[in-house]
Amino acid sequence: MIRVIFLGPPGSGKGTQAHLISNKYNIANISTGEILRKLSLYNQSNGIDFDNTFVNTMNAGHLIDDELIIKLIIQRIQQADCSNGFILDGFPRTINQALSIKQKNISIDFVMEFNVSDIVVIDRIIGRQIHINSGRTYHVKYNPPKHYGIDDMTGEKLIFRTDDNVEAVQQRLDQYYKYTKPLSKFYEKELELGNLLYFSVNANRKVSQIYKELINIFKLHKF
Ligand code: AMP
Repeated sequence: MIRVIFLGPPGSGKGTQAHLISNKYNIANISTGEILRKLSLYNQSNGIDFDNTFVNTMNAGHLIDDELIIKLIIQRIQQADCSNGFILDGFPRTINQALSIKQKNISIDFVMEFNVSDIVVIDRIIGRQIHINSGRTYHVKYNPPKHYGIDDMTGEKLIFRTDDNVEAVQQRLDQYYKYTKPLSKFYEKELELGNLLYFSVNANRKVSQIYKELINIFKLHKF
């Protein structure tokens, strides 16, 4: 059982690494952004009340209300595919969200913080394409699919995210520094209390280099 949080700004490569690590260790890959994108497309909320205006909030690059996010994540973590563990990609993004899982005694083994410069973030996000059903991401320059605009595995169409534009990315970075960055201190304290392990990773590097470092950390700690 491995429960991991990937912390970091948009475009730091959390999603890409979450796909690789979840395949390697056979653990669930939970992206709150992906859950929200599917919710907006397919309206499947498993009984959780929500207001469709969250889509406008996302497109503007702002954070969604803690209340909805916490309900979605608690429900998701209880699903059968999480029995072997999970990676949380993009959750928590506020102290309140972090406290919500702590109060529910959902323990976390590792927090991995992806550190990356703002310039790299903008470069990676502009040109990014995603496969909506799987959450697989590509980049027209750095990680192109075999055929332009087509997912390698399914042959389905890729899309540009509506919040992957310069204006929204700037807003998402502002939100990150204001609400999410304080989680570094929060989890450093959790480390001091012996509640989890906390690692800081240089995410300015290539996908393969970051992956190697993550795998080494997992191995060192006997996963
Ligand atoms: P992501 O796919 O992780 O980049 O998330 C895309 C967008 O979904 C964010 O810019 C937020 O609007 C929203 N979102 C995703 N996760 C959260 C979260 N934990 N708390 C609040 N908003 C979130």
